[in-house]
Amino acid sequence: MEKKRDRSNETIWNRNRWVKLRTKVWNHYSAGKFVCARCGYADQRALSLDHIEGNGAEHRRRVGSGSNLYRSLIKEGYPPGFQVLCMNCQQVKRHENNENANNENPKYHGRVRT
Ligand SMILES: [Zn+2]
Repeated sequence: MEKKRDRSNETIWNRNRWVKLRTKVWNHYSAGKFVCARCGYADQRALSLDHIEGNGAEHRRRVGSGSNLYRSLIKEGYPPGFQVLCMNCQQVKRHENNENANNENPKYHGRVRT
């Protein structure tokens, strides 16, 4: 039986492309170390790009999220204000900065922000 080519190949291709893009951006913001800027955690599955000033929601509204955000960073020549953090440290930071107050708190997810 012939395998379905289109869908799965496309997914793998996109994933490779995404990893390459992410690696490029993280490489810049973590000085090539790929570890959490706070605790040094090195498992890439738990790392992501963090807005140092906590204005992530606003920025994502402007440029989009995921690969769109990463592409815009490359296009803008890696603007300052970003760091690589693990999920734990991002959560802790959010609580410290009260970033959950309006838009990141699951309690408020019922309200759609445009
Ligand atoms: Zn961390």
